Amino acid sequence: LKTSLPAELVHKTRYAPTPSGFLHLGNLYSFILTATIARNTGASVLLRIDDMDRERFRSEYLQNIFETLRFFELPYQEGPKTEADFLQCWSQQHRMDSYTKALDELRQKELLYPCACTRTDLQKAGLQSGCTGNCSSSYSLDDPGLNWRYRTPEQAQFLQLFTGETIAYDFPVSMKDFIVRKRDGTPAYQLCSVVDDTRFGVNLVVRGVDLLESSIAQVALSQSLENNTYASAVQVHHPLLKDATGHKLSKSEGAESLNTLIKSGCTPSQLLTLLAQRCGISYPVSHWTDFTYSALTSIV
Ligand SMILES: [Zn+2]
Repeated sequence: LKTSLPAELVHKTRYAPTPSGFLHLGNLYSFILTATIARNTGASVLLRIDDMDRERFRSEYLQNIFETLRFFELPYQEGPKTEADFLQCWSQQHRMDSYTKALDELRQKELLYPCACTRTDLQKAGLQSGCTGNCSSSYSLDDPGLNWRYRTPEQAQFLQLFTGETIAYDFPVSMKDFIVRKRDGTPAYQLCSVVDDTRFGVNLVVRGVDLLESSIAQVALSQSLENNTYASAVQVHHPLLKDATGHKLSKSEGAESLNTLIKSGCTPSQLLTLLAQRCGISYPVSHWTDFTYSALTSIV
């Protein structure tokens, strides 16, 4: 394992699936990489299921998360063990007080502003994210039905990488003044993610490279909070697994859905072999522990 990080710097990581679709091979790849890094560093693993988006939430997707982790014997030491346990104790709905507290803190620091802009308004103004500037002065954060935007910093953000390096990234335009509370009053994804990882003491985050801009945004947000431990979490951004035709995998009920493959009678070993092929790994695998960090991170 190529890292100059002392193992004791990394003590907890997490699987963070969303019950908004059936898991696919790409999710399995991400779980196995997380489990492998945890195994190599001695870090513990938390299962943190993001269910704030209730519109896309479905019980069968939630079940699919537990079934998949069990099927592949992927370990975790903290988090829900069953759907009932999740709903009773671990749902993000139970941590609303933490999200509200973080929003209050940002509000007191005058880092929030209300915004009525729609996606179309932003497009017309040629903006990827943020506010057109035509609405913020006429509204108050107490008005209903508005997004709350976080004033993102201008300066570069520093990410702590698994290699031991600290890299400065310019703040991405796509994340400019990202939304931390939605029109319907619920806290938004980035805020919940930072608050949860901070609360659970996660200090190693493994996610796809497509979420690099999200990581930069989250580090900035963490810096604005009094409890800013998340800002120094170690970040691992892995390559994205593609399907057989070279396209990005997305949550679906298609052929690459683990649910479909498992229900069709594939064994764990068969599916892990399929994953290995997709990663360009030529040695035989029959269990997730057969994958190595270097093989998993050198996929093309
Ligand atoms: Zn606006």
